[in-house]
Order: sequence, then C-alpha cells, then structure tokens
Amino acid sequence: MSARKLPQVIIIGRPNVGKSTLFNRLVGKKLALVDDQPGVTRDRRFGEAYLLGLEFSIVDTAGWEDDDPDSLPGRMRAQTEVSLHGADVALFVFDSRAGLTPLDEEIAHWLRGQGVPVILIANKAEGKSGETGILESYSLGMGDPVPFSAEHGEGLVDLFESLQPLIEPLQVQDEAEAAHFDEVEDEDGGATIARSAPLHLAIVGRPNAGKSTLINRFLQEDRLLTGPEAGITRDSIAIDWQWEEPKTGEMRDIKLVDTAGIRKKARITDKLERLSVADARRAVDYAEVVVLLLDATRGLETQDLKIANLVLEEGRALMIAINKWDVAEGPSSLFNGIRSALEEGLAQLRGVPLIAVSAMTGKGLDTLLTAAFDTREAWSRRVPTSGLNRWFDDALDANPPPAPGGKRIKLRYITQIKSRPPTFVIFGTRLEQLPTSYERYLVNSLRRDLGFGAVPVRLHLRSAK
Ligand code: GDP
Ligand code: GDP
Repeated sequence: MSARKLPQVIIIGRPNVGKSTLFNRLVGKKLALVDDQPGVTRDRRFGEAYLLGLEFSIVDTAGWEDDDPDSLPGRMRAQTEVSLHGADVALFVFDSRAGLTPLDEEIAHWLRGQGVPVILIANKAEGKSGETGILESYSLGMGDPVPFSAEHGEGLVDLFESLQPLIEPLQVQDEAEAAHFDEVEDEDGGATIARSAPLHLAIVGRPNAGKSTLINRFLQEDRLLTGPEAGITRDSIAIDWQWEEPKTGEMRDIKLVDTAGIRKKARITDKLERLSVADARRAVDYAEVVVLLLDATRGLETQDLKIANLVLEEGRALMIAINKWDVAEGPSSLFNGIRSALEEGLAQLRGVPLIAVSAMTGKGLDTLLTAAFDTREAWSRRVPTSGLNRWFDDALDANPPPAPGGKRIKLRYITQIKSRPPTFVIFGTRLEQLPTSYERYLVNSLRRDLGFGAVPVRLHLRSAK
C-alpha cells in the first residue's frame, strides 16, 4: 500500500487556550499533555485526526509565550512558522471566556499575512460562557468563529462544516465518505439544510428503554450486535441506512450515531445510570437530532430529564419517543401525564415533539422519522434578516419592552448569527435592564412565528453604541 498524503491542519494560539485539548479531541488519544500551566506544550506534536469522516494530519504547536508582552518569543514563533509552512489550514484558537487579548490580535495579524486559510475557533464556549468573546472576535476580521468546547466536544459538527470545503478537495479518492451539510436556499432566501444530507440521528435513553430493539427494527435485522460498522470516531459507532419516506416514497439517508444500544449488552449492565448519561453525552456530540426514548411501562424518571437537559444544553434538536406503546396501560392519560411531567420537570421541554412508538411492532416509527427530518430542518434554518426584522417589529408592537424608571429599553434590530442551533443577536440600548421574562417572550414568539418549533433557540443581547 502506498502511503497517502493527508491534508495538513495546524493548531495555533496563545498558551492555555485549549490547543492540546483540541488536539486530543481530534486525535482521540491522550497524546498531547494538557495542563493549566501556560506553555506546557513546548514542542510540536503530530497526530492523525478523524472528524465525521474527514481525515487529516494535525500539528499542535507550542503556544506563543506571553511572558514578555512586547515581543514574541523567537523560538516558539520560529517553530510555528515552520509548521505553518506546508499546512493546508490553520485552526486559530482563542479562549472565548477570557476574550481577546493583545497577543491574540497579534497572532491574528501575523496569520492574515501567511496565505493559509484560517478557521477561527472560539474555545471554552460550553454553556453560555463564551458569548461575549465570540462577539468580540468578529473584530479580527477572520469571519464567523466556530463556537467550540474542546473539553466537552461541542462544536464538532460546525468545525466539520468549516473544514470540509477546505480539505476535502485535497483528499485522495475513495476516502471514508463524509457527511454533507450543504446549505440550500429556501423560497424566502433563507438557508436550510439540503434534503439529501444524511440525518445524523442518535437514540438515547435509560438502559432497557428499548434502544437496541428500536435500532434493530429500523435496520430490520437481528444481527446488529455482531457487526456494526465503525465510523465517525475511533471510539464510537455509526450505521448508515436508508429509510423510505412514506409520504413521498423517497429514500432518505440516515446515519445512526453512537448509542449504548448498538454496543455489546455486557458493557451496559454495570454502572447503569452513570453509563447512560455518558453515552448520551457522546452520542450528542455527533448528532443533529437526538431521540430520547422513554419506557411507557416505567414513566418519566429523573434520569430522563437529565438526559433531555443535556441534549438541549448542547444545542441539539431533541425529540422524545415513548416506547413500548403496545403494552401501555391507559394510553391517553399516560401520554398526557408524561407530557405534563416533562414540562413541569423542565420548562424548555414545552412543545418538544412527543411521539408514541413501539419498537416491537413498528408503530409510530415512520411518524418519528418524518418528525426527525422536519426537526433537523428547523434546527438548520437561517431566516433572512429582512423577514426576521419584520417579525421583530411586530413582536415589539404587540408587546413593547418595559420602561424601567420611565426610560424605554430600545431594541433596534435582530440578526441570526448561526444555525444548528438557531442563534440570534439583538442590538439595542439599556439591555442590561431587560427582564428575562421579556427575553422569554421574544424567544417563544420567535420559535412559534418563524417555524422553529421546539428546537433550542439561543438569543444574545448586545448593546449598540
Ligand atoms: P494549550 O496551552 O493551548 O495547549 O491549552 P490546554 O489544552 O493545555 O488547555 C489549557 C486549560 O484549558 C486546561 O486546563 C484545559 O483543561 C482547559 N480547557 C481546554 N479546553 C477547554 C474548554 O473547551 N472549556 C474549558 N472550560 N476549559 C478548557
Ligand atoms: P436498551 O437497553 O435500551 O437497548 O433496551 P432493549 O432494546 O434491550 O430492550 C429492553 C427490553 O424491552 C427487551 O426485553 C425488549 O424486548 C423490550 N422492548 C423493547 N421495545 C419494546 C416494545 O416496543 N414493546 C415491548 N413490549 N417491549 C419492548
């Protein structure tokens, strides 16, 4: 076999922004040393990375020391320059919690002159902690930052989307097929996901909810446990399959990603509770839509809410399926009972698709998958700014923002900064006084009026100067 030349990706950034953690995340092994001490990664490290089907070699460079703020340390810089020479893409990492530092700006300035495409990575952006840093980073003039958390594995799909167009053309034929996240324009000029893009779907839930039975049913074979095809990452599993959409007769591609249910049973008999959450976390990294499977004979348990919460926090589109409907007692009161228990347990679950299924008989499964594709579409949508602001004006007219102390809070305009999940920024003045109940009003009407359904929608407020 002849050696294949992989595209070269280099990680650059000041110390302690999470370069080694990112490297480990992409390589899937603990090769680089991670430490709280700035400058721990003193040398370059090389690895082979694998991200949703993209393969590339990756270099983790030494951080640019900032012990002397007035000058870049020669040795580190020289090393980085050597590595950059010959790289196809640079991942420029900054710490979105800490915000931009002068050194970040200096590195950005230097990178812009190097002629290598740069992807800006806003690391440590788990939860909402990175919002300010993300907005700040637009000032670097390097385009949209990829909100990322190397530690929690968030943002892998976004990183994939940014990397794919840059490195895929460089890859030798017959590579592992990569998922396509092609955006297409809808009638209003907004963008959404192409119908043909495979749906990355994860099934999560407590042990015995029926995950394996469901997946076997989907694939209509019983042998699943013996031969899952390895994919996605080295330690997880993906299965590609096609589903015939009943309405259109069209074959639609689905990629079922990492679930405990498709792994050997023996592994999930120990430490049951802990494992199901850990598995959900991993599955969620790679999924667009996550189906949380409940067991109709057990009802809703705290563990289910924990998993649901995790899915929403990671910004994934969530759906809930109540399985074993064939043996459900008093189905209609059970259904309504679960619906209200979900909403009481977690306010964000209001409106989340809830579908009764039986993995055993197949009932409800076409409905479930139809809804999964619709949910992905909503989750991937970009609303054109004009339409968005028409909605915004109406929403403000219908319910004007309050005027604490007689001074009105001004909300000027809104823009969607990203999709997957849909993320919006509102510009205005005196925003720090805007009550959360008003933000909730905006988010709820935005979801309802613009067809986002129950997908998680993120809203940022930013003072316009
Ligand atoms: P490097 O010097 O740029 O290689 O940074 P490291 O990868 O060694 O990370 C520096 C510190 O940041 C370590 O304590 C990491 O655990 C932490 N870190 C890395 N990525 C993240 C992240 O996504 N979120 C948070 N909160 N911390 C992170
Ligand atoms: P997992 O641990 O989530 O993968 O759950 P399994 O798929 O192993 O299912 C646990 C048990 O529930 C097995 O005994 C299945 O036969 C049973 N089961 C799964 N789905 C259904 C269903 O739709 N109806 C009924 N009656 N039993 C089911």
